[in-house]
Amino acid sequence: MLGADLAQPENAIARHDWVVAMAHKLGFALVGITRPEASSRSTELRAWLAQGKHGEMSYLADTVADRCDPRRLLPTAVSIICVADRYHDGARDREREFDDPCEAQGRIARYARSKDYHNLVRDRLHKLRHAMQSKFPDATFRLTGDIQPLMEREVHAQAFNGMIGKNSLLLVPGEGSWFLLGELLTSLDIAPSSRPPNWSPDPCGSCTRCIDACSTGAITPFSVDASKCISYLTIEQRGTIGPEFFGAMNGWLFGCDDCQTACPHCQPKKRRSVDERVGVVDARYAQRLSELPLFELLGWDEADRARLVVSSALKRASLAMLKRNAIVLLAEFAEHHASARAMIEARLCALQRDTQEDTLVREQAAIALAWLAAKAASPQ
Ligand code: SF4
Ligand code: SF4
Repeated sequence: MLGADLAQPENAIARHDWVVAMAHKLGFALVGITRPEASSRSTELRAWLAQGKHGEMSYLADTVADRCDPRRLLPTAVSIICVADRYHDGARDREREFDDPCEAQGRIARYARSKDYHNLVRDRLHKLRHAMQSKFPDATFRLTGDIQPLMEREVHAQAFNGMIGKNSLLLVPGEGSWFLLGELLTSLDIAPSSRPPNWSPDPCGSCTRCIDACSTGAITPFSVDASKCISYLTIEQRGTIGPEFFGAMNGWLFGCDDCQTACPHCQPKKRRSVDERVGVVDARYAQRLSELPLFELLGWDEADRARLVVSSALKRASLAMLKRNAIVLLAEFAEHHASARAMIEARLCALQRDTQEDTLVREQAAIALAWLAAKAASPQ
């Protein structure tokens, strides 16, 4: 059994080393421990919500009090164990040009190209909890990991797992932000991780590459306006995508990695990492699917989607949402490929008129056709 070979840790410092060793044994790349404290960013979060930057994600506003104080998730908590898996090495996608709309592909963000990370992180957090519970039967626990309201990146930064960059992601200097996060709150007193030497809370300095790379202008330093972010628009937003975003989607069908691939810390490494656990991509995150055919997707039914999204984070988007996203990308394609325009417009017209089709898809097709018509009326 996990941890059975390790002696019972008698004090908070020994428990720190014991938990860290077990979490590494489970394959987590980053492991840090911190105390649950009221967030220092609650004023910022409330202002962000007041400005509507959360878009349709009303659950963020509904849970703001919990989000700003982890002790509300587990009133007995005195420690938070923060873990993370490395899911990508930063390698660039192959640049591809398509002339035939039947071949055009929509890109999938890297975190969603493998098995669903929620399960991969959570399964091992459960194992960690069981191992701890067997040594400390009186301790209480609560698992988070993207399912409970928590300022995840902030607590990971407090645990010295990384720093928060201007794109608001947790990044490890020289290793990037290709990490998926999970947390375990516990009543067990575990000594917090100590501040590494030469630690600076700002990994960015004067760099603005992520801000410059964001095609929708969603980033201001250390804050992302979710309502403008392609990840939100393609995965979280349930309604149509407005014409103001047409031409800025950069080929993304599900999510967006542009502010990561632009970051100097996220580039593929030329030399081995000091800590191989942090530098090597976890084999559990082997990529299965990096893109989807846009034209074909418009003809899918629920069975096609179910085959695709089984045990994948792609299931976050409904079939209608995937079609909505494909429509926007195909309209952009038509704008750049005059020879494909008639074919795409005909398909969009058919979708708009199809009474069997989801309202979201029909409305998005109408928006796309109007955008193409406006572009044709005032070519630049
Ligand atoms: S994910 Fe894409 S759209 Fe969102 S902030 Fe980053 S670059 Fe901008
Ligand atoms: S691209 Fe530059 S500014 Fe943005 S997170 Fe990376 S280091 Fe910071």
